Amino acid sequence: MSADTPPPASTEHDEPLVHAPIHDFVRKLRQPAFHSRVVDYVAWQKSRRAAAAAGATEPAMPAWAPLSINLDLTTACNYACDHCIDWDILNSGISYDDTKLRTSIETMAERGMKSVILIGGGEPTVYPKFADFVRFLKDLELQVAVVSNGGRNDRILDVIDRLDENDWIRLSLDAATDPTFQAMHKPKKPVTLEEICAGIPPIKAVNPKPRIGFSFVITWQGSERGAGAPEVIENLDEIPRAAQLARDHLFDYISYKPFLTRTDDGAEVMDPDAAKAEVAEIVARIHERIGEARAFASDDFAVLESINLKLLESGRWREWTQQPHTCHMQALRQVLSPLGLWNCPAHRGVPKARIDAATAFSSEDATRQAADATAAILGRFDATSECREVTCLYNDTNWWIEQAIEDPRGLTDGPVADAEDYFL
Ligand code: SF4
Repeated sequence: MSADTPPPASTEHDEPLVHAPIHDFVRKLRQPAFHSRVVDYVAWQKSRRAAAAAGATEPAMPAWAPLSINLDLTTACNYACDHCIDWDILNSGISYDDTKLRTSIETMAERGMKSVILIGGGEPTVYPKFADFVRFLKDLELQVAVVSNGGRNDRILDVIDRLDENDWIRLSLDAATDPTFQAMHKPKKPVTLEEICAGIPPIKAVNPKPRIGFSFVITWQGSERGAGAPEVIENLDEIPRAAQLARDHLFDYISYKPFLTRTDDGAEVMDPDAAKAEVAEIVARIHERIGEARAFASDDFAVLESINLKLLESGRWREWTQQPHTCHMQALRQVLSPLGLWNCPAHRGVPKARIDAATAFSSEDATRQAADATAAILGRFDATSECREVTCLYNDTNWWIEQAIEDPRGLTDGPVADAEDYFL
């Protein structure tokens, strides 16, 4: 099969995979706020390919900014989690020039960016100006999400009044009992799982609008974060109790996802084959426990599974490792960290996935350079091979854009109603 042909639907599992709205990136990109950018991007790629085929000079990419970014505010972290996917870049001591960072964000917002996820590479709430920075983002009318380890809920409380129903917070907790929590997360300053969960009702009391999630990365015996790293503590049997804990502390949802590891070349992948037990046995145990967790779902509390967990359970996870040669998401969603601008969260910190410097978009020249560097990585980074082991959450989105570029009519799917969800 050519890598320019989407993978065939599985014959064993002919029911379509139903995305939760937050993971339906094709639908999100068809919202009025994004649709014209996708149309323009498809037109630019068409002209670029036509020029290349004719041996002519390819048109430069317009000086677009990504529509959404993952922003690593810091590489510092107050935990030492055994399953941390960003272990290699943590606590590197490299930090932003805060003024330049704000200029970059302003430029990106002027050029179409609609949302910022404050997330990994470190713990966002330990950034010294965390609350002030969130206010700055909200002043720019950006949607804001915070993915935190929960160790500084006081800092989230400081700024919760500025968030609204389109913003969200997700705490990475991964356990239902404190011994498992301590063994997995190793907080440097003592804090218990119960104390973290007890921090949610006061936040909800100030402002109930932003959704607050309890994130649970499922681990099993044999999981390790990379070759030679210590084995990760198993938490699989705590899946149902974690749902009860989350519901009892007023979280809006619990979200389960499978453990990811890093390949030797740095890609973030699912590797159930590394488990000590048979994959089928692990999947059966996960399925049973998730079923038990669902008993805690209600109108006010959702039990969610990530796309890659659904794919793992249905035996289809390898289907989403077949990417087109060009990853179009690189132009629409990027990762900005103190170490540079990256093409994807799955390759954060890996040299071949680096687009530009951390100062990208911080001046007119830097904005032009970032666009040229984005065009360069779109041509250079062959997702068919570089992401061949990644169960990519954007797999169907990339194929949707690829087919529009190859279609003489361009993008034929029109805009859909605005769901006001601009996170990619
Ligand atoms: S194909 Fe998927 S995993 Fe690879 S760079 Fe693109 S979004 Fe990331």
